[in-house]
Amino acid sequence: MAHSFTLYAVRTTRIVCRVGCASRRPRPENIVWVDTLDEALAQGYRPCRRCRPDAEHPQEDFRRRTVEAALGMIRLGRTVEEAAAALHISDRHLRRLVRQETGRSPREAA
Ligand SMILES: [Zn+2]
Repeated sequence: MAHSFTLYAVRTTRIVCRVGCASRRPRPENIVWVDTLDEALAQGYRPCRRCRPDAEHPQEDFRRRTVEAALGMIRLGRTVEEAAAALHISDRHLRRLVRQETGRSPREAA
């Protein structure tokens, strides 16, 4: 399976970071790509205190809350378009967020 390239562990420091972490860039030969935080923890790495791979990613957090709100509205009889408008996003964007979060369409997920 291809790596998602969102998390890397550093062999020398035993720390796992998100890509884009502001801490000093490790030498490429010391980087181990991991797909999930659990995978890194199982190998004995610690989550970086700076980029906090163990904390919810703000973007994912936003996505989850948006999807929950939208599905709640749809369950109560709102259309996908109405739910999207209420959340100030396009219905196309909403469909994509729901798909990313649940793997289903808004109607199926609701
Ligand atoms: Zn980091």
